[in-house]
Amino acid sequence: MKSEGLPEEIKSRLDIVEFISDYVHLKKSGQNLKGLCPFHTEKTPSFMVSPEKQIFHCFGCGTGGDIITFLMKQENLSFGEAVAYLAKKAGISMPAFQSGEGASSEKRTALLRANEEASKYYMNNLKNSSVASAYLKKRGLTGESLEKFSIGFASGDKDSLLKHLKKLGFPESVMKDAGLIAAEGKGYRDWFRGRIMFPICNTRNDVIAFGGRVMDNSQPKYLNTQETAVFKKSDTLYGIHLAKDEIRKKGHTLIVEGYLDVIVCHQFGFLNVVAPLGTALTPRHLRKLKLLAKQAILVFDGDDAGIAAARRSLAFICENDLPAKVLLLPKGDDPDSFLKKNGSEAFRSALHHTMSAMEFVLKTAKGGHTETVHEALGIISSVHDKILADELLGELSDRSGIHEAVLRSELDRFRKKTTTEQFSGKQAVFPVAPLHREEYLLLSALIACPEKAGSILSELNTEDLQNTAVKAIFRKVKTFSGEITPESLLDLAEEKDRTLITGLMLNPGFDPEHVDRNITDCLQTIKRKKDEEKRIQAEEANNAEILNSLLKEKRKRIKGIKE
Ligand SMILES: [Zn+2]
Repeated sequence: MKSEGLPEEIKSRLDIVEFISDYVHLKKSGQNLKGLCPFHTEKTPSFMVSPEKQIFHCFGCGTGGDIITFLMKQENLSFGEAVAYLAKKAGISMPAFQSGEGASSEKRTALLRANEEASKYYMNNLKNSSVASAYLKKRGLTGESLEKFSIGFASGDKDSLLKHLKKLGFPESVMKDAGLIAAEGKGYRDWFRGRIMFPICNTRNDVIAFGGRVMDNSQPKYLNTQETAVFKKSDTLYGIHLAKDEIRKKGHTLIVEGYLDVIVCHQFGFLNVVAPLGTALTPRHLRKLKLLAKQAILVFDGDDAGIAAARRSLAFICENDLPAKVLLLPKGDDPDSFLKKNGSEAFRSALHHTMSAMEFVLKTAKGGHTETVHEALGIISSVHDKILADELLGELSDRSGIHEAVLRSELDRFRKKTTTEQFSGKQAVFPVAPLHREEYLLLSALIACPEKAGSILSELNTEDLQNTAVKAIFRKVKTFSGEITPESLLDLAEEKDRTLITGLMLNPGFDPEHVDRNITDCLQTIKRKKDEEKRIQAEEANNAEILNSLLKEKRKRIKGIKE
């Protein structure tokens, strides 16, 4: 079933600003809101959201569209998946709505459903396992935490999950692709056995994977789902679905090391906590966090291994332009053990005494003074954000007692040495390319004044257009029977062409006072260019007939202008 009108219904019920605010920290900027683009790395915001037009557009990377496009891009969904999700959010019931978007979206949905059922199954197992329940109780997890994080238990059986999912109608291929079972001999076995199960969710609350922990000292202590079509380890932060609102509210995020740290932090009232999945932080992690937080606080064990890990993470976070601080817990403590021993007040006061990046580097240095200052300069030189780099330099000067000018000249030396990063030349996407300028302007006129559609279309031969995107849009408009509005244009356009429309919506490129003049000029230029092209071709082919007819037309036009 094709659900005509569903995208419109969604857009009329959901506010794009509210929705995008779940992902991006937006600030008012004139009529629009501005923030850091989630689709490319940037330090000054060029990502705009228009409440009035209900669209977004990034003038840095050219991405743009409506609420549906945003979700598709942000969560890597097909059009159908995004519509289905938003419809649910908007409270629209769609009895027979099928995405009809082909195999990949159906497959993703199937994997997510299998994970969801597996999670329920594991949770139920836990309720029936006194051993696993006793273990979690001993670890200090409350019943509330078990519910909140949907913690479960995989028994030691060879294939009990497999049998359960089979009963529910899941084919083995889906379970295998979801990473829930693995081949063994001629058949399959459950991937997780004899483990406490931690479902891992994306920001939308879908279970995308699991982490499984043993209850004894066997190895590996933690086992994760292998990467699947819905799970990429380097993309995923444990706890992000429960932390995102609080991170946005507080403006900063705590980064801890393990699942239990995250859960226990929640138990003690600290909700803005995430953890990478047993890996180092990646740029994708940081990009996600940067959209929500202005600052990260790394929480580490104060032992040598913890300090070394904090040093590495800190350098990396700075390199990715997220201001960071460090909280070193007493030796041998992680947030889990610290909170249980000392309670939330002690943790809160520890958080008031976090170390700034420079303070941490200087205080935990093992080498001599000069060496340490050089290490700090190394970190500063990797920071792209000039303001942040400047702040760090000022602080380094204060703390090391070395004059700022001296540090600055040292820093320049460092930077020259390390100019390996290539800044991708970000250019504004507003199509000022002189090549097809008139075509962009004509489209812009149509968007700004849809009531002119009739007169534009009667004069325009779409086949005369040179720009493929503009041409594709006008072709669709020509056969469209509904009312032309900026919104219907967005829906008509192919996904790849939508950014052109949103770009022009926010930046029309002409004076609306003179829109008629503008349209006439554009139409004439397009026609003239096409004739010129035909003339050159005819000349090359020595086609007198075409040349003559072109000449006749030209005379007619000149006469027309004179009359
Ligand atoms: Zn962008």
